[in-house]
Parts: sequence; structure tokens; C-alpha cells
Amino acid sequence: MYNPKSLKAVEFIDHQEVLETLAYAEKNKSNAELIDSIIEKARLKKGLSHREAAVLLECDIEEKNREMFALANQIKNDFYGNRIVMFAPLYLSNYCVNGCVYCPYHVKNKHIARKKLTQEDIIREVTALQDMGHKRLAIESGEDPVNNPIEYILESINTIYSIKHKNGAIRRVNVNIAATTVENYKKLKDAGIGTYILFQETYHKKSYEKLHPTGPKHDYAYHTEAMDRAMEGGIDDVGLGVLFGLELYRYEFAGLLMHAEHLEAVFGVGPHTISVPRIKHADDIDPDVFDNGIDDNIFAKIVACIRISVPYTGMIISTRESKACRERIISLGVSQISGGSRTSVGGYYEPEPEDEISEQFDVSDKRTLDEVVRWLMELKYVPSFCTACYREGRTGDRFMSFCKSGQILNFCHPNALMTLKEYLEDYASSDTKIIGENLIDAEINSIPSERIKGITVKNLDSIKNGKRDFR
Ligand code: SAM
Repeated sequence: MYNPKSLKAVEFIDHQEVLETLAYAEKNKSNAELIDSIIEKARLKKGLSHREAAVLLECDIEEKNREMFALANQIKNDFYGNRIVMFAPLYLSNYCVNGCVYCPYHVKNKHIARKKLTQEDIIREVTALQDMGHKRLAIESGEDPVNNPIEYILESINTIYSIKHKNGAIRRVNVNIAATTVENYKKLKDAGIGTYILFQETYHKKSYEKLHPTGPKHDYAYHTEAMDRAMEGGIDDVGLGVLFGLELYRYEFAGLLMHAEHLEAVFGVGPHTISVPRIKHADDIDPDVFDNGIDDNIFAKIVACIRISVPYTGMIISTRESKACRERIISLGVSQISGGSRTSVGGYYEPEPEDEISEQFDVSDKRTLDEVVRWLMELKYVPSFCTACYREGRTGDRFMSFCKSGQILNFCHPNALMTLKEYLEDYASSDTKIIGENLIDAEINSIPSERIKGITVKNLDSIKNGKRDFR
């Protein structure tokens, strides 16, 4: 029985409610009057229910679909502007005791090279990431209580934050590790993590159990209720996601929004981010075996519908997607992207030898960070290395009300420009630098407050003269 306030996964992702939602959406996919009313509601920028959102996703009236895409773009601009936050994944260990059938880290894979970074390796890897210009990382690890216990993850986070680099420290570490206990989430919170990210993979319980046949991840309830435990442990920025391709996308879309509704209903704050990974080829994984793959058009529509259904939630797109796909999707609502990524354990400092491949999946966008930064700026986006909200304790509902108050142009925009300026001074190639300087000159004018504009100009000048990390 659907109850968004319930703490039981089977009630807040109630299967029957998902099926009824999909039937309702199918019945109303050409209902212009209803679709118009939902689009009008979406224009208020306060979000949509999962049922309303499902109707938009299913809508087959081309003109209305165009309106939705335009609205998604407008909402993205209103809340997130033209800034795109940059990050990179850091794989700590691919030891894993789970049997996930889509992931090459599964326990039965005997030929993938198993690796785990030592603290010395971490220093080398992170320094290589800092040498590229990264300030924000997402750490990734397989689930293995013996090889990757929570103590190892905590020690690694501590190591990352304490690495001194000539251009400044890593400023935010997000964490994507397996579902764990409230006690462990408290420890992660105390270690100063940014967002806790955990992909649901699929919300469909029966499929979930088949796709995760063995290991602790087999437990649907434990996995689906992880964000509740994370919130209970004091982590108020949590990142949701499903792995598109495993189950029917309509089901996943409804589940994702029900999960967001649940967090909002119970904790008063929805997810900080939603990721939209699609399944990729990997060591012993052929994505075509999973017959629920989605094409780029459906993918774009999913992103647009998420954007207008949960306007305050950031959206992340990784290098699983190609340059062309990212170019199309970003304008529909994405606020964070990775760049220059490696999905192997180690590999930033030194490329892996061919007989020791440990990567999790094939990366489609193989460009360097500098190329990604330049490309974004050519498209008139402002790549941002800013982590100010997190460092000033603006997380959870405080971030949401900041976002809703429309103060982003006065605060996030100057911060984005200043961190971009740091990047240009410390890392950019000469072409990138020229484009960036011109972009910054133009973008300063979009800061509404004259006072803040003045401070920003002064700070940009100080950065040129060697000062870093304004707070
Ligand atoms: N072990 C943690 C867990 O259980 O959630 C961390 C997961 S893993 C390092 C990060 C994510 O990669 C997974 O949640 C999954 O969605 C995704 N992934 C796994 N195999 C993939 C594949 N073949 N293609 C694309 N993404 C994949």
C-alpha cells in the first residue's frame, strides 16, 4: 500500500502503485488537456508528483514534448544557471563480494585484475587528479567487508583531504559505496563527506533480486532503505540514481520520483542529486544482454522530465556518455559532469598495463579535463570547481532554501567564476585560457548585485596575482 512516509521500501516504492501510475500515464498520453495542466503546474517550479511526471514522460503529442524540453531548459537556467560543476571519480578498490550480473566487479569474475589502493597509491592518484585541476572527487569502491571495511574508506577520505598540493587541497569528497549501517553513515558524516551517492540500480524488486543474486546487495529492502539510514546518520545530501537498461525505464522513472517524494515526506529534504547512468560494455559484461536499453531520444526525455519534476535536485551525467550525448543532455537539466575520468583502480598516476585491466566500464567521453572545460566554455557554460555550499554547511534543506531563494546568481556565479579563474591560471592550455578569460569578462555582468560584482572583480584580480581559495 503506497505510503511515502513509510520507512519500509516495499511501501514507499509500492509495486502496485508503480503499475497503476504506468497505466494512468499510458491512458493519458494523448490527453492534451491533462498534459497542459501538468505543464502549467510544472511552470510554477515547485515540482510534480510521480503520477504527473509519468504522464509527461509518456506524452506522445510532439508539440507538448517540445514545450517540456523548453521548460526543462528554462528551469535549469533559473536554478542552476549556465554553471556546470566538475568532478572526477576515484576508484579505491574493486574487491567485491556481490554477484551483480551487470558489473565486472562481481565475485565470480576471476580474470579481472583485483586491486585496492594503498594510502600511498591514493596520494599519487589524488595528486595526479589535482595536477589536472580537480577539486571535487567521488570515491567508488566494491563491497567487501574484509578488503574494503569502513575503516579503510574513512582512512582514505582522511588521506585525500590531508594531501597538500601547490594549488590547494581537494575540497569535497563525495562517496559512492555500498549500503551500510546508521553507525557507519555517522562515521562518514564525521569524516566530512559531501554527498553520499548510492544507485538503486532498479526499483523493481523481483528484477533487483535476480540482478543481484548473491551477496549483501541481494537484500532489496536494505539497499532501498539506505538513504533513510544515511539521513538518520546525519548525512543530508544524498544522491539517487538508477542504472538505465536493467529494467523498463518507465518503472525506474516512477520509482526514482517516489523515492524522492519519500525522502521529502520523511526528512523534509529531497535528494541532493540524481544520476542517470546507462549500462555500458565492461570486462565480461555485454550491455545488449539486458534488453531494456534506452535510445538517446528517450534518455533526453527522461532527463527533461526529471528536471521539471524535481527542480531543486542537481543532475549528474558521467563519462559513460559520449560528447555528443552530453552536449544534448546538459541543456535539459544537468548541473554536474565528470571529466578526464578513469574507471580503473589506479590509472590516473600511471596508465594500467594491458594485462592488468581493472576498470568498471568503458568510458565513452575520453577527453582530457582541459578539453572538456574548453568545450563547455565554447558552448557558453561556466565550468565550476566550486564547493562553497558544502564547506559553509549549506547542505540538505539549507541548500534547498538557498536554491529556492534565487540567490544563486549572487553567490554561486561569482564562486564559479573565481574557481574557473583559478583553473585558468593554474592548469589551462593557452587556447582554453583565452576562451575562459573572455567568458569570465562577459559573465561578470550577469551578477545582479553591484556590490558583489565589485568584490568579484577584486577577487579575480587577486587570483591573477597568486591568491587562491576564497571562502
Ligand atoms: N559497490 C557500491 C554499490 O554497491 O553501490 C558502489 C557501486 S559502483 C562502484 C558504482 C555504480 O556503477 C554502480 O552502482 C552501478 O550502477 C554502476 N555500474 C556497474 N556496472 C556498470 C556497467 N557495466 N555500466 C555502467 N555502470 C555500471
